[in-house]
Amino acid sequence: MVIIVLTDYERLTAMNKQYLWHPFTQMKDYNNSDPLIIERGEGIMLYDVQGRAYYDGFSSVWLNVHGHNVPELNQAITEQLGRVAHSTLLGMANIPAIELAEKLAKITPEGLNKVFYSDSGATGVEIAIKMAFQYWHNKGIRGKTKFITMNQAYHGDTIGAVSVGAIPLYHDVYRPMLFPSYVIPYPYAYRHEGGEAEALKSTLSALRNLLETQADEIAALIVEPIVQGASGIIVMPPGCLRQMAALCRQYGVLLIADEVATGFGRTGAMFACDHEDVSPDLMVIGKGLTGGYLPVAATLATDEVYDAFYADYEQQKTFFHGHSYTGNPLGCAVALASLKLFEERKLVEGVSAKAALVEHKLAQLKDRPHVGEIRQKGLMVGIELVRDKESREPYDWEDRIGVLASLRARELGMLTRPLGNVIVFIPPLASNIAELDAMTDILVESIRHVTEGGGAK
Ligand SMILES: *Cc1c(COP(=O)(O)O)cnc(C)c1O
Repeated sequence: MVIIVLTDYERLTAMNKQYLWHPFTQMKDYNNSDPLIIERGEGIMLYDVQGRAYYDGFSSVWLNVHGHNVPELNQAITEQLGRVAHSTLLGMANIPAIELAEKLAKITPEGLNKVFYSDSGATGVEIAIKMAFQYWHNKGIRGKTKFITMNQAYHGDTIGAVSVGAIPLYHDVYRPMLFPSYVIPYPYAYRHEGGEAEALKSTLSALRNLLETQADEIAALIVEPIVQGASGIIVMPPGCLRQMAALCRQYGVLLIADEVATGFGRTGAMFACDHEDVSPDLMVIGKGLTGGYLPVAATLATDEVYDAFYADYEQQKTFFHGHSYTGNPLGCAVALASLKLFEERKLVEGVSAKAALVEHKLAQLKDRPHVGEIRQKGLMVGIELVRDKESREPYDWEDRIGVLASLRARELGMLTRPLGNVIVFIPPLASNIAELDAMTDILVESIRHVTEGGGAK
């Protein structure tokens, strides 16, 4: 038995290294590593082909909600599969796509009444950008063609999404083929000399100044509401999003909320915009939409935006955009089943107690010599490690401190993936108290082990 399993691992590893090219992965490192090959999942655990169990401490890159292999979700897919796996949304409809659209319009911030499907966060962002651009065109207002984004923003990896991205490591190489966007500072309080209040002020005054002079050439502002994810789980100061939204409204610029990471309860509200009662003009959702099961994303628009496209065909105001698998019935069916579980299990309501436990457990890291800042909103956590706590001097990227901490966590039975020097903890919403307790123990132990050597206790 043991020999067969090992052989299987060796066979798969060899094939993996020969044929598979992984996203966001230096393959030279990967091929020199001991790759993790997942065979199955159950609850919030993932099991590899060698039979080892791991907590899914990052929700399989921020997607998973109810855990893996969930009977209710499996059943929703099987039932839909017995009817039809896919039919197009180009000029016709299917049942789950309609029912999910109604549901999404009801649970998203007020005013977002129209749902346009796609298949990933990045395509959802492309759609929002093109809709905002064409909205002004269709209204006969010329020149509003540019976008504002925030420093260190991440909106996905397609060219349009990268054009409104601002993470130099990921984006700079492509700069020559991107359209230029305005970039305002993100309020990163920990690394702002003036702290939170000044960081907030810089952001708002940069936005106000830009809008005062350039609003007539700006189509929209795109923002990751409340929590900027890929830059290192950076939480906005309270009031920031609301005030940014007000400035957009005042100067006639659309607001695009990219809720791909923050949506579906992650921050303790169904959507991050809900924390500050913000109703954007366009909103992008993905990741947790299907509970982490299938690739469905959506861009929601207000009636005001939709109506600018609603005209006689000859006027050429149609939104000429779509993807082969737009509105996929299997994906929409599982998204509906996921939302039903959200309600039945009161998952969003449950976040605050779970988040409180996590906060309490992680407080023991506060005084550790290499823990710079612990950032948390709901069940989105980022722990920034620093070489020097006093001066906040960062670790060099060559130190790979985040990678080392994640490797240690894996040895201890939990999966996560760092963002530079920031350790990420984004457990599935369905994680129970005992599981969160065990996962935070691993997190603490991994961080102490790699920053202080020898580990905790
Ligand atoms: C992950 C992410 C995206 C991209 O989604 P994909 O499904 O990976 O294309 C876009 N925006 C934000 C804020 C994200 O976190």
